[in-house]
Amino acid sequence: MTVRLPEPFTRRMRELLGGEFGEFLASFGEPRRHGLRVNTLKIDGESYRQRSPFRAALRPVPWAEAGYYCGDEDRPGKHPHYHAGLYYIQEPSAMAPVELLDVRPGHRVLDLCAAPGGKSTQIAAKLKGQGLLVANDLARERTKALARNLELAGVRNAVVLNEEPERLVPVFQGFFDRVLVDAPCSGEGMFRKDESMVAAWMRHPVTRWTEVQRKLLRLAAEMLRPGGLLVYSTCTFSPEENEERIAELLAERPDFEVVPVPLRYGWAPGRPDWVGLGGIDRRHVEAVAGTVRIWPHRAEGEGHYAAVLRRTSAGGSGTAGEPDGGPPDGPRAAAGQAEAGRAARRGKGREGGGGADPIAAWRAFRDEALPGFEPPGRLVAVGDHVYAQPEDVPDLGGLRVVRHGWLLGEARRGRFAPSQALAMGLEARDAARRLDYGADEPEAVKYLKGETLPLEPHRLSPGSGEGGRTPEAAGYALVCIDGYPVGWAKLRDGLVINERAPGWRWR
Ligand code: SAM
Repeated sequence: MTVRLPEPFTRRMRELLGGEFGEFLASFGEPRRHGLRVNTLKIDGESYRQRSPFRAALRPVPWAEAGYYCGDEDRPGKHPHYHAGLYYIQEPSAMAPVELLDVRPGHRVLDLCAAPGGKSTQIAAKLKGQGLLVANDLARERTKALARNLELAGVRNAVVLNEEPERLVPVFQGFFDRVLVDAPCSGEGMFRKDESMVAAWMRHPVTRWTEVQRKLLRLAAEMLRPGGLLVYSTCTFSPEENEERIAELLAERPDFEVVPVPLRYGWAPGRPDWVGLGGIDRRHVEAVAGTVRIWPHRAEGEGHYAAVLRRTSAGGSGTAGEPDGGPPDGPRAAAGQAEAGRAARRGKGREGGGGADPIAAWRAFRDEALPGFEPPGRLVAVGDHVYAQPEDVPDLGGLRVVRHGWLLGEARRGRFAPSQALAMGLEARDAARRLDYGADEPEAVKYLKGETLPLEPHRLSPGSGEGGRTPEAAGYALVCIDGYPVGWAKLRDGLVINERAPGWRWR
């Protein structure tokens, strides 16, 4: 046994699992599973698997599009492809909730507890750049990692918030097609992955989690449109944090129903017999049999729980609501009314204001370094920062906003400094000048570490590749590794001056 489990935990699990407990316990002596999910915004899973630089062959995770089991010995976090955003390192079971959310391009999706962004980057991949992702987390420091991971993945249609969920409700009432509540929990399912979770478990009673989970579910339900889907997930085994929370929500909200999860891949059903709540209609308790448990002794992954819920109607009558094709008029109209108020805060009002106008500075940069490129959505200036914001975003006034959309860069004394996020969200062909390195060349790692390099002319080409003339070796160039952008450089005096922001450098 490699993990030292707390005695109250094993006692409880023995009571719950009965004859299955031996197998469950034995799974803690097995190695944990490692996984990565190929970023399909950049490359499809199979193409990446075939060119994978890792020694251990990537083996598909059966429940996740572009998800693969990988070996830890390859240290995928230390490969240049990680810095090119070609994959996200994610525990295989953690890939399941977003698969159950059934995200389609064009949806409005809320990830309520999103940091550090594993599931947000997965949602963004499923949106394929269309629609809107609102990624929120209460922990300020963690939202920095969240924004960075979304940027690393090249996501262009996300807003990142750092808010108390109750403050989101007035802005997003009935707004979303999909809501994910990947709730903070006691983390029992992660004991094998991260032993520090055991010590944290000992420090906190389960009520610490159940109170916040109850609140998050209630608030999330408010923000889902009729006909929309909500997925609730945890990485813990305790029924108080799983089936009981779902049964309670169903009792409170007659306009919500469980969408049963098909049991494949060794997944197991939720357990109505473990619901200890009194005074709840049996119907709601029985419904949790349609939720899903991923057990480490039955499936190839760590412990997880997920429930898929549908909001059937606006009024809570329990009748079938809006079909799952598009949002009702209400939220869209409300968003439209907010438009006028937004315009004042948007940079458009400042266009044509001369050199100090951030959007004019962006345009000058764009014309020189990214000719013909138009970012999606609308341009918004917040202070000196310029964003491309998805069209669907309602008025965010009063909320703590970490990213208003895709951060294009910042105007400094009338000149535009392009952001790392801009580089990561571009394609190599968008740039007037690109510099190419191979992932196995030492220069690739030197660039990622922030070093200045000599300019070797054979590496410089116009973004669109063949046929174009060699561009002038001066100005901003988009640096690419194996053809994928990793950052900016300024070309000057025969040098590649590294423009990777310090926080992004490979250490
Ligand atoms: N979904 C994330 C991912 O896939 O990378 C992991 C989320 S983690 C299980 C739970 C998150 O909930 C933590 O980042 C924590 O900061 C956040 N959290 C805790 N209380 C919260 C609250 N009241 N509102 C929003 N987020 C909260």
